[in-house]
Amino acid sequence: MKLTHTIARVLENKRENRILSISPDQTVYEAIKKMAEYGVGALMVMSDNQLLGIISERDYARKVVLQGHVSKDILVREIMTTAVVSVNPWRPVDECLAIMTEHRFRHLPVMENDAVVGVVSLGDVVKWIISEQEEVIHELEDYVVGSYPC
Ligand code: AMP
Repeated sequence: MKLTHTIARVLENKRENRILSISPDQTVYEAIKKMAEYGVGALMVMSDNQLLGIISERDYARKVVLQGHVSKDILVREIMTTAVVSVNPWRPVDECLAIMTEHRFRHLPVMENDAVVGVVSLGDVVKWIISEQEEVIHELEDYVVGSYPC
């Protein structure tokens, strides 16, 4: 397993590389409903294919629930994070992990020529590392069996 492989490899490993998004003018309730429907923790906030921000369950917890607001009364644009940190597909996996750890967030849009080409979560990276490790173990097992025939 090489953490110097590109993040594009992690995207390729995902069962579905879909970009789940929401409009800034939809309500937070609609955003949370969509996250629950697709089993994800964050959505890209997009308008005309342009990335305007990101909204995650953490934004909902901190900026809606904790403030005593009601999700149906608050728009996505009011609580989204606009300073989105993204990477290009050639960024090494270890650097992407470092970015997420340093900024304490779990989602990273992958962008190419100003277009979002995928989104990786910390969970996707962990899953990729585990599957790569399994591959290395199988290769080592084959090597050991091949080297020491009974
Ligand atoms: P998360 O850990 O992804 O649920 O997000 C924690 C906080 O960081 C939330 O306020 C998100 O809006 C924000 N956030 C998540 N991903 C990013 C990102 N790639 N760039 C900037 N902010 C982000």
